[in-house]
Amino acid sequence: MRRIVAYANARIGNLKDVDLRVDLDSGWMSGVRHIASPNYDARPPGVEADLIVIHGISLPPGEFGGPWIDRLFTNSLPADAHPYFAEIGSLRVSSHVVVARDGAVTQYVGFTERAWHAGKSDFSVGVELEGTDTLPYEPVQYGALAEIVAALCAAYPRLSPDRLVGHNDIAPGRKTDPGPAFDWPSARSLIAAAGTAYGKPLTA
Ligand SMILES: [Zn+2]
Repeated sequence: MRRIVAYANARIGNLKDVDLRVDLDSGWMSGVRHIASPNYDARPPGVEADLIVIHGISLPPGEFGGPWIDRLFTNSLPADAHPYFAEIGSLRVSSHVVVARDGAVTQYVGFTERAWHAGKSDFSVGVELEGTDTLPYEPVQYGALAEIVAALCAAYPRLSPDRLVGHNDIAPGRKTDPGPAFDWPSARSLIAAAGTAYGKPLTA
């Protein structure tokens, strides 16, 4: 109980006065930083977002901060800055949204488009939390995630907290993120609380 209160306070502190609203025509969300990734294409005709996939990401692995996620998603990761960047620099990948360690949210691809995460999944929305499988995610990240999920559920009728999975759930044996460090019960409690603010009951 104490932890949930802490998360709720963190959420209010972090996203105070920020109104996350999804423009249904463009698929871009107001109230967050926008960096357009070229790594996207159209969802198949008639296909709308109906699953939210949670990922963990850190660049280089285990390190936080820096411009590297932006650079990866905009195909400008400098190969000479770290040995790992040389390995992954030619990847063409993206995700719809990233939540940094400090709770800051960046959107890279409109939700109406197919971001190139989870093998270019046709029908999903990709949300990356900056982190690793084993280090606890930050309370402000859960707060921001809850706001994002609530806003998405309000915007897209097929989305609900039941339609929230980890990357490990859809690629078992191949992907482990967001990992055991991700606290599902707390995430679900906060999403339910955030849903009320968006006028949509969000209990899974
Ligand atoms: Zn992933």
